Amino acid sequence: MVRVVVPRLTERARSLRAVEIAEHVAVEALPDWNTPRRIRERSQRLLPDPDFLAGLADQLREAVRPALELDHPPPAATHLAALAGQLHAAAEDQPQNCAAPGCGRELQPATTGRPRTYCGAACRQRAHRARTSNSVRIDR
Ligand SMILES: [Zn+2]
Repeated sequence: MVRVVVPRLTERARSLRAVEIAEHVAVEALPDWNTPRRIRERSQRLLPDPDFLAGLADQLREAVRPALELDHPPPAATHLAALAGQLHAAAEDQPQNCAAPGCGRELQPATTGRPRTYCGAACRQRAHRARTSNSVRIDR
């Protein structure tokens, strides 16, 4: 809860203060919280991590391999192997989004080295400032 202390102010100072408070409230209210982009960002963040999915796929593939190596593999083994393939594909297809606050742009996959986290230097810098500043952070 925001506690507003209003000392005795002139009419003019009071209206200036009111505008300031209104702006503060507008920022805190995140007026674009329900735009398609924000909704996509949030739902994207709830998906399992691609590494986790790839790990599950590998485990499943390993688990069914002995059964698949039989001359007549049981249908369940074939189905599970197919499921492992789907999991692996899902892990690879999952687009990654820029992690900077308020961006969420889809990232181009890195051709070499570690996967990208931010879409560019500006977003990397903004995320760093957001992490290190003392001001209130808004998780968009
Ligand atoms: Zn970005």
